[in-house]
Amino acid sequence: MNTPQHHPDKNLLTEYAAGTLARAPAIAVKTHLHYCQKCRLEVRQVEEIGAALFLNSHNEQPAETTTANATEATHNTHFVKLMSAIDDMEIPNESSNTAHASTEENKIKHTLSSKYATLPELVKKMMANHPLTWRRSTKNLRSASLIADQDQYAVSLQKIRAGSQVPEHEHLGDEMTVVLKGSFSDEDNIYQEGDFLAKSVGDKHRPMASSNEDCLCLSVEQAPVRLTGMFTRLFNPFISIARV
Ligand SMILES: [Zn+2]
Repeated sequence: MNTPQHHPDKNLLTEYAAGTLARAPAIAVKTHLHYCQKCRLEVRQVEEIGAALFLNSHNEQPAETTTANATEATHNTHFVKLMSAIDDMEIPNESSNTAHASTEENKIKHTLSSKYATLPELVKKMMANHPLTWRRSTKNLRSASLIADQDQYAVSLQKIRAGSQVPEHEHLGDEMTVVLKGSFSDEDNIYQEGDFLAKSVGDKHRPMASSNEDCLCLSVEQAPVRLTGMFTRLFNPFISIARV
């Protein structure tokens, strides 16, 4: 597995560990963590610090401030609630009667081809829970919504055709992208499997997929993007307009 070179910033990881991040951005961070040991360690450290602070502020039983208490404190944080919220989301109605796990597993197996087998469990779960409808956003870009209107974010898959370029676009809100398969480059860097890319309002870039394979990304977007190059087509999961 590729070792990611581009990571969420410290604030984002801290918010994630504290459980104060909105669910959609947390999905992007959690997806990155699947690939990134460095950030997993960092999140764990923040959790441990949080647990220690929690204990200090509830230090009425000093003799009992043991590892077990620390663990309990950690489990009581917002982080756990956030993880539960992610785990519980968008469960399909069909699996609501018997054998949840096996139904879900079967659904994942049947829905996804083997080329998606190495994707993070969270992404596979979203893909299985929400039948993929690929839309043609531009000639070289397909997008498939995973979760729409989630905390004012849209979570989607984006697929850039091998060797092709996406029109330059300007971001009107925050966007987080995690490369799931393949790689792409823009004016600044090359992004490979597991890399995390955050764009903010006013940022412009023009991604280009590497020539050897299609580039599949998880995208969490806060607001539509505006195309700024010579292209006039719309490209974002909020406004699903498919044009040739
Ligand atoms: Zn990382």
